[in-house]
Amino acid sequence: MSNKVVIAHLYPREMNIYGDAGNLLTLLKRLEWRGYEAEIRTVEIGQPFDFSGVDIIFGGGGQDRGQLIVGEDLLERGDAIRKAAADGVPMLLVCGLYQLFGRAFITSEGQELPGLGIFRATTEGAKQRMIGNIVVESPFGRLVGFENHSGATLLEPEQMPLGKVVKGYGNDPKSKHEGAITNNVIGTYLHGPILPKNPVLADHLLLTALQRRDKQAKLVALDDKLELAAARTAANRPQ
Ligand code: GLN
Repeated sequence: MSNKVVIAHLYPREMNIYGDAGNLLTLLKRLEWRGYEAEIRTVEIGQPFDFSGVDIIFGGGGQDRGQLIVGEDLLERGDAIRKAAADGVPMLLVCGLYQLFGRAFITSEGQELPGLGIFRATTEGAKQRMIGNIVVESPFGRLVGFENHSGATLLEPEQMPLGKVVKGYGNDPKSKHEGAITNNVIGTYLHGPILPKNPVLADHLLLTALQRRDKQAKLVALDDKLELAAARTAANRPQ
């Protein structure tokens, strides 16, 4: 059994706003510290990509313009990504790509970008941007981060949110829902990047990937003193 974990990074050039690629550094280091290797494979517009050998899929946030640029290419990969989602591949999509994994994103200018439909959710650009520090109660404990989006994402009744907003906006200004979870696919508005200060979520993605290959796989505990101290500081910041 290989000890290499393969991570697909969706559109790093167009969809890496607010340093979301930093999430990959967290995954890489938390694998390395446990003796695993990791390989990042980038998904680029117009380039063929085989998702069958991928253990984790990650995609970051982007401006509306970036979403318009990648939207069509993402749709063309929709069947392969939906198959991976159905097969339980763990995925983390942040903001702009979270929106494009829903049914559609209608920009504040009224342009409609169809999504992959993995999340039963639709996003509409609002005039009021939702910006600031955010704290969310989730199945992975308290999550902290930063949000900056115009899109308000409404979940359909059967769509599970990632968590409940304790401080900040989340999916929209009213529902107090944040993000979405379908199978092992997680969408969130939390930038920061989210994973360095939320090690439980980072390890959830890693363990899910490892246990898809070997049900007995385990992750030894790491000393997350610094990560958790940073999370406490972030949680105490005003919105
Ligand atoms: N362009 C989208 C919005 O403004 C996503 C922004 C982002 O990825 N931070 O809602």
